[in-house]
Amino acid sequence: MRCPMCQLESAAPVLKVGAGDYCACPQCGGLYLDPYPARQTNAVFEGDAGAAEQQALEVARRGYFLRHLIRIEKHVGRTVQNWRLMEIGCGSGVLLQTAIARGWQADALEMSPELAAIARRINPTAKITVADVVDHTTGAAEYDAVMALDVLEHVLDPGLMLRNCCSLLKPGGLLLLQTPNTASLRFRTQGAAWEMMDPDQHINLFSQRGLEMLLENSCFEVVTLSTVSGSGMEVGAARAAAAVKQWVLDRGKLGNALCVLARRRV
Ligand SMILES: [Zn+2]
Repeated sequence: MRCPMCQLESAAPVLKVGAGDYCACPQCGGLYLDPYPARQTNAVFEGDAGAAEQQALEVARRGYFLRHLIRIEKHVGRTVQNWRLMEIGCGSGVLLQTAIARGWQADALEMSPELAAIARRINPTAKITVADVVDHTTGAAEYDAVMALDVLEHVLDPGLMLRNCCSLLKPGGLLLLQTPNTASLRFRTQGAAWEMMDPDQHINLFSQRGLEMLLENSCFEVVTLSTVSGSGMEVGAARAAAAVKQWVLDRGKLGNALCVLARRRV
C-alpha cells in the first residue's frame, strides 16, 4: 500500500501490536495501520461520562494550552486583537476559552456532540460545528490560525485534513499541529509497547520527515518544528522538571510528540 504520510508505495516490515499491525515506512519512518481501516473510530470521547472525563483532563492542561497559543502569537508578531482562530477537535472548549480570554475570536470543529455542547456552554461567542475536519470544506479562507492538537494521528486521510486546514486559512496564516513522534526516545526504547501505538485510535504515527513532507506537499512551509514531552498537567516543581526534560529531549528531537508551526504559502 501507499504510505499515507509520504506516499511511498512499499511492502514494508510490519510491527505486531495487540489486535492491529503497524507498517513501518522505509522512506519517512512513519507507522501506519496495515490493513488500513475503512473508517475511523472516536470511541474514547463518546457519551456523557467520556465527555466529563475529557473536560477534567483539559482543565488540568490549561497552562499547556496557553503555551501552545503563545507559540502562535510569537510568530504573528503583533498584539492579538480580533484575530480569528479555528481549533480542530476542541473537546470541551478549554483551549478556546483561554484563546478568547487573550483576545482571539475563536471557532471550532468537534466530532463529539457531547463535547461540543460543553464547549458551547463555556464559549457562547464561538461558532462550534459538530463535524470531522476531513469532511469540512468551507473554502472561505477566513482564519489567521488553525490549531489541531493530537488530531492528525486519528484521521484516515491526513493529506486531506491538511488541505482542508489550508482552505480555512488566509494566505500566510499559521497552522499549529501536534502529533506523536516515531523518533521519540519512548518509541526507541519501548518499541511496540509505546503507548501511542494504539490501533483502536491511532491510524498514522509520524516522523519529523513524514510530517514535513506531508506539509510541503499540501500548501504549507514549516516555520518551526520542535518536540514536546510530558503530560502537560504537571504543576510546581514537577512542571519545572518536565520543562528541563523537554528541553534536553528536544535537543535531539526525541520528545514524545512533534509540534510544528507551519505557514500557508501565499
Ligand atoms: Zn512514508
